[in-house]
Amino acid sequence: MSATYNFCAGPAMLPQVVMQKAQSELLDWNGLGTSVMEISHRSKEFIALTEQAEVDLRELMSIPSNYHLLFMHGGGRGQFSAVVNNFLGDKGKALYLVSGSWSKAAVEEAVKLTSKDQIESINIVKNDNGINTVVIPELSGKGDEYRYLHYCPNETVDGIEIFDDIDSPWPIIADMSSNIMSREIDVSKFGLIYAGAQKNIGPSGLSIVIVRDDMLTLPSLPQSSIMDYRLAVKHGSMYNTPPTFAWYLAAEVFTWLKSVGGVSGMAKVNLDKAKLLYDFIDSSDFYSNAVAVQNRSVMNVTFYLKDETLNAEFVSQAKTAGLVALKGHRSVGGMRASIYNAMPIEGVEKLVEFMKGFADKSAT
Ligand SMILES: *Cc1c(COP(=O)(O)O)cnc(C)c1O
Repeated sequence: MSATYNFCAGPAMLPQVVMQKAQSELLDWNGLGTSVMEISHRSKEFIALTEQAEVDLRELMSIPSNYHLLFMHGGGRGQFSAVVNNFLGDKGKALYLVSGSWSKAAVEEAVKLTSKDQIESINIVKNDNGINTVVIPELSGKGDEYRYLHYCPNETVDGIEIFDDIDSPWPIIADMSSNIMSREIDVSKFGLIYAGAQKNIGPSGLSIVIVRDDMLTLPSLPQSSIMDYRLAVKHGSMYNTPPTFAWYLAAEVFTWLKSVGGVSGMAKVNLDKAKLLYDFIDSSDFYSNAVAVQNRSVMNVTFYLKDETLNAEFVSQAKTAGLVALKGHRSVGGMRASIYNAMPIEGVEKLVEFMKGFADKSAT
């Protein structure tokens, strides 16, 4: 076993057993004498894989039967444009809640694709004395002119997570790229959920879309066929050749997740991991976190060193200790430990031990 723990925000580490299985069957999958990457996506073996993946993900997330499950190209950002092109037509309006970098990027893409006044956005993060808190405004008074409300329940860059349900009079679209399957959610509260795969699902390039069937009656615009939800539904996510290897690995991740207690089992471990790290940060004068306790991300723990001139030294010594990819996103600085489903608690324990040692050394 390698001694490295990878805290990369994405593409992120995958469960070791999944990688080992992929390695063992790389050249000969299912007794076919070829890899899963080298067979037709329409072969009966691959179709069987996709059917099992669908059963597993539906079970893992308790997805109701009036929702379609799509495996699409283009990662998270691909869906920024897909939701606009599929649901807004040339007159529809949408409301975007902005809580950090990714929800802001979703707004920018939506504005680019629409005409004046179709996109409205509200900043929902208040900064008080350096601490970021999510404050969701009362939405029911805003009338009923929006086709959907878009938000990002977990801001990967900023380490801000929204745990409360949003009370919205309009269908909710959620970008769950970095917290899908990290805890239980009630899918029936959403019109559409999407997630780029490379944080909690599998390799990059793939995105998972869970869409309620009535959403597909909203007027769409002429658009790229590969991003058209209706075509994707009609063709079982195979309008064109899907990212088959990513789909295969995602299927293996679903199998793994079921074997370790499903989403509810994983959620408990995730809370333990996050608590370990945040409790340590709070107990230390050397490290700090800038997010209100109730909005601290369970998946992406951002933190700062009191003496920021030590940042490079921290990253470098951590790497030597086998703890890699801890540098924060360039837009916010500091550090970030992404502790997705695949990160074992031992990795977080080792990180805390390292952080303690680094702080003690630096204090003397
Ligand atoms: C990573 C991420 C994205 C972008 O995913 P890409 O696959 O790079 O397009 C979008 N939203 C969130 C919340 C993310 O974490």
